[in-house]
Amino acid sequence: MVTTTAAFDAALSRLTIDLGAVRLNYRRLCRELNGVPCAGVVKADGYGLGADRVAPVLYEEGCRTFFVATFDEAVALRHVLSGDTMADAEIACLNGLLARTEASFVEHRITPVINAVEQIGRWRDQGHKEGRPLPAMLHLDTGMNRLGLDGREMERVAADPTALEGVDWRYAISHLAIADEPDHPMNGQQLARFTAMRARLPVSMRASLANSSGIFLGSAFHHDLGRPGIALYGGRPAADRENPMLCPIRIEGRILQIRTVEPGWTVGYGGTWRAQRETRIATVAAGYADGYLRSLSSAGRVAVGGRLCDVVGRVSMDSITVDVTDLPEAAVAPGGVVEVLGPTVTPDLMADAGGTIGYELLTGLGSRYVRHYIDTSA
Ligand SMILES: *Cc1c(COP(=O)(O)O)cnc(C)c1O
Repeated sequence: MVTTTAAFDAALSRLTIDLGAVRLNYRRLCRELNGVPCAGVVKADGYGLGADRVAPVLYEEGCRTFFVATFDEAVALRHVLSGDTMADAEIACLNGLLARTEASFVEHRITPVINAVEQIGRWRDQGHKEGRPLPAMLHLDTGMNRLGLDGREMERVAADPTALEGVDWRYAISHLAIADEPDHPMNGQQLARFTAMRARLPVSMRASLANSSGIFLGSAFHHDLGRPGIALYGGRPAADRENPMLCPIRIEGRILQIRTVEPGWTVGYGGTWRAQRETRIATVAAGYADGYLRSLSSAGRVAVGGRLCDVVGRVSMDSITVDVTDLPEAAVAPGGVVEVLGPTVTPDLMADAGGTIGYELLTGLGSRYVRHYIDTSA
């Protein structure tokens, strides 16, 4: 399936995205949800993988509800999910309903995820103008303390039987703060708060609580809609469990040069790494300008033919330096490629080594890689 294009031949590094793995991850999450519908969270350009490519694949797999963060992301996605075939997809905008954007939400058929009582009023008024109640979701804050109706706003809604009238409520949603730690008591506390808050709403509505990690907390967290993001893209749902998801991305870095460094010499900026033995160093074309974290200086790994090798010295803007002394000489040559990120050097492995999380790593992938989409399930 991987065709070596002229663009890659000329390029230094390539990012291959396997939409087939995204498909299988979606199916895996659907199995876990056991009949409860599964949305797709494709904010931040599908966590860096390309929302315009990921969303249609999820649609083909049966996904009908999509979440993005910003209004601009929603409009861009509506252009993708449109026409005769995919126009019934619902696109929800998590950042809420900003003032004076109401008509634009209607024009592009975007569902606002309403975060405050004030937004309800504006959306109801817009519905009156349109002559029909408009679709919206209601975000309830159960402990994240980031977005959604807080306790005080909840009192206002609970005390007024008309508070939610005039809107076509699709779902009440809330977001888990510590779902990646399955045994953390906060999970049960948020679930209980969600149940209590929903019971106080003047109208009943369907509900959605579980993100990727939440889906693996069991059916009590599933309600009427799963809302996974990172698991679709191969991120682990729980830090201390085996990752059941497939890694859809692979970054191949081109070897620019091989050199032998004598003992006592240093490698890279700052002279932070010193050779203890005669060392063969491969310089690979991927640097912090490509999203390769500088915190992986003398901490990252790359894979050559499935074998892990250490990144030594500082990460540069355009390259890293790798100790390949222990590999057979024939395995590494200028022009060859190493796995910078992929099935062996997984995003989680790399994120742990670099002091961050898979989410930040994926959304920070640079734009300099030649992008290449495949579908191994097709
Ligand atoms: C980002 C986000 C998700 C998806 O979370 P993952 O951990 O990536 O599965 C779900 N719901 C809300 C409100 C979000 O902001």
